[in-house]
Amino acid sequence: MLKQVIIIGAGLAGLSAAKKLKEQNIPFVLLEAAERVGGKIDSITFDNGIYFELGPQFFNNDMHAFKQLLSAANIPVVETALDSNSIEVDDYRRLDVTPIIQKLHTIEKTSLSEDIPLQTLYEKVITNEQDRRIIESYFCEILNIHPSQASAIASLESSNRYLSEQNDLLLQGAKPFKELTQYLASLFQEELYTNHPVYAIHKVNDYYEVHTTKQVFYAQTVIIALPPTIACKIQFSEKLKTHFMPALQSYVDGAIIKITWLYPQKFWQDKQPLNGVIYTSVPGVSVVDSSKKQEDARLTMFIGAEAAHEFATLNTPTRLQQATTLLEQYFGEIVHSYTNVQESIWVNHPYCGGGYSAKVKFDGLIDAPMILRTPHENIVFASSEIALKFPNFMEGAIQAGYNAVDKLILKK
Ligand SMILES: Cc1cc2nc3c(=O)[nH]c(=O)nc-3n(C[C@H](O)[C@H](O)[C@H](O)COP(=O)(O)OP(=O)(O)OC[C@H]3O[C@@H](n4cnc5c(N)ncnc54)[C@H](O)[C@@H]3O)c2cc1C
Repeated sequence: MLKQVIIIGAGLAGLSAAKKLKEQNIPFVLLEAAERVGGKIDSITFDNGIYFELGPQFFNNDMHAFKQLLSAANIPVVETALDSNSIEVDDYRRLDVTPIIQKLHTIEKTSLSEDIPLQTLYEKVITNEQDRRIIESYFCEILNIHPSQASAIASLESSNRYLSEQNDLLLQGAKPFKELTQYLASLFQEELYTNHPVYAIHKVNDYYEVHTTKQVFYAQTVIIALPPTIACKIQFSEKLKTHFMPALQSYVDGAIIKITWLYPQKFWQDKQPLNGVIYTSVPGVSVVDSSKKQEDARLTMFIGAEAAHEFATLNTPTRLQQATTLLEQYFGEIVHSYTNVQESIWVNHPYCGGGYSAKVKFDGLIDAPMILRTPHENIVFASSEIALKFPNFMEGAIQAGYNAVDKLILKK
């Protein structure tokens, strides 16, 4: 049956597009490759009610669309137990990184006439070797790729679209985010097809054939809510391929490993406030106090870029042991007193790509996000990477989903 719209991918971007279509009574189907919805949003809950976010966990007050969805899903907002806005860097001793971060902000305002690798850009401004190592580590963690691989222009453009003065770690949900994606999916159960990986999209006359491994679907318009590095594995008919493939191939997957330790108490409170300790001995590793105010005591480590690729090759016990040893270097033996630990590995994920998101690489098209979020024929892309506001965050995924629907409807 010919539908008006097919959405491919039931991550937050695809679910948000579906919610908007449903509200406007526009017929659609939502095709998801995996058994579950949510994509990078995933949570694990134990019998005693304790839960861990395996993917995204934090947001702030300026991320309005996300807060609205939480409220609709009846998920209260709680504050993270952070009391400092500064990033502290550990190089086996404490360093004041405020001047480095200020230099970084200067870099972010730079306007470049031609693209260079992000690493080349900051090395022009930061001459001190140790400061460079810290910045390298910082970028490996936040970008999930090494800054030598990243397009400087695209990285600056993306950070300028983070439309907030606030730290992105300020708030969390009082219930697992899995409940949010399950709530969204419950709004359109009849339209949702899980276990339906899409492998080809063909234009036939004035409609599209969308092939999954189980069935062929037909629609007038298609929203592709997949990370670009995943979307470029789909077979497109020739004209679509010519238009979109160079933009899709401009992205490179990130890599991130997230490990959270649960403790009986906060043994780190006698130290200075902890808001992102970066172990520069291993570039791309940071630790944050992820506890909620007045709740349990947690530390979360993020391992990004090359370090994530290396850690991903280890078996779980070895990986956790090596990560705990990194913690021990800073906090001492008490780090072994945890009551639970959970890890999640976002490296070369078959359906979600890698890392927090894919990034535009140096030598990619710097206007790739714009090409993908602009409809061509009756196809448009939607994923967190290409969002106009808050790209690479959950808020960005929602904005991208809403934008795709608005653009397609305006086009009609
Ligand atoms: C460890 C980690 C921590 C993070 N922390 C934060 C945070 O604290 N705050 C924040 O705001 N953001 C955070 N993020 C980023 C955030 O998770 C993403 O920006 C957002 O969830 C991306 O949503 P999306 O819909 O664009 O993509 P995805 O979540 O990747 O969804 C893509 C969907 O498409 C499906 N799919 C793939 N291929 C096919 C196919 N061929 N056919 C059909 N379906 C397909 C996938 O299964 C998936 O469901 C984090 C991410 C990670 C991994």
